[in-house]
Amino acid sequence: MKTTSILDHIGKTPLVPLRALGRGLPVPIFAKCEHLNPGGSVKDRLALALVDDAERRGLIGPGATLVEATAGNTGLGLALVAAVRGYSLVCVMPEKMSTDKRVALAAAGAKVVMTPNAAPDSPDFFQNVARRLADEHGWFLTDQFNNEANVRVHEETTGPEIAAQAGVPIGAFVAGVGTGGTLTGVGRFLKRSQPGVRVVLADPLGSGLAEWARSGVVGESAQYAVEGIGTSKPPAILDRSVIDAVESVADEESFAIARRLIREEGLLVGGSAGTAVAAALRVAASGRCAGPVVALLPDSWDRYLSRDWLADSPTR
Ligand code: PMP
Repeated sequence: MKTTSILDHIGKTPLVPLRALGRGLPVPIFAKCEHLNPGGSVKDRLALALVDDAERRGLIGPGATLVEATAGNTGLGLALVAAVRGYSLVCVMPEKMSTDKRVALAAAGAKVVMTPNAAPDSPDFFQNVARRLADEHGWFLTDQFNNEANVRVHEETTGPEIAAQAGVPIGAFVAGVGTGGTLTGVGRFLKRSQPGVRVVLADPLGSGLAEWARSGVVGESAQYAVEGIGTSKPPAILDRSVIDAVESVADEESFAIARRLIREEGLLVGGSAGTAVAAALRVAASGRCAGPVVALLPDSWDRYLSRDWLADSPTR
């Protein structure tokens, strides 16, 4: 047997057509099932890439402590990698994120530091706290928001997988942005290999990113409940030039679509998958796509089971 660890099973996730949600649309919608990674999210790819890159560059050695600012998923990915490779892990997470994620991270062996839901210029902002802890303790900041290895892994794996699995030229690729690694990496690969493809940012209503993508100036921000995507601080690695269009999606629509993905498609996903698919449905319905629309499903429902949008979802 060639397999050496669970880390060999990161990536190569399925691409499946949305037969129920996509019914009657002029082009098919395909879902890239990143929730089926071993750690339950797209962030497994990034976690492995960040650690591989740091090892290759000699920045970390046996017994090192990794620290990361995370909405939860990168932390879980890093917890898997840390377990297999023998590192310690500290995760800095804003209060907004679900209790399920906090419990999961601690259960997976990470030390979890919670921060208030502070603005990016505050010293309490989770990314600033992670950087400060790294400096103070000599821990290695994996730095998903600034590390080009984040973009590279999607350019070299997620993008090529989608193109090969679709088998026909793609009309549009739709994803949300947390760090921007997925959208930038997949977007760059597809644009290089499929000149007609449109790259669409799916952004939660309330995020200032949509306006930034359109005009270069960050828009007004307001509270929203979808986790892991949208921001008022455009991440350094997000390449604005790959974005052709933006769709803003309200919380209620994101959660309604996520529930439909669960119940009608058997795709056990979180809220940001609802955001991406809600946007993909609009893009497909616009009649402007020559090929299928691909939406990326970032994470699994298991980290939201106590959230109202799942726990209180009405029975059929
Ligand atoms: N959805 C969820 C639930 C996430 O946690 C993240 C990453 N924070 C994303 C989507 C966005 O992925 P990326 O960081 O590659 O932009």
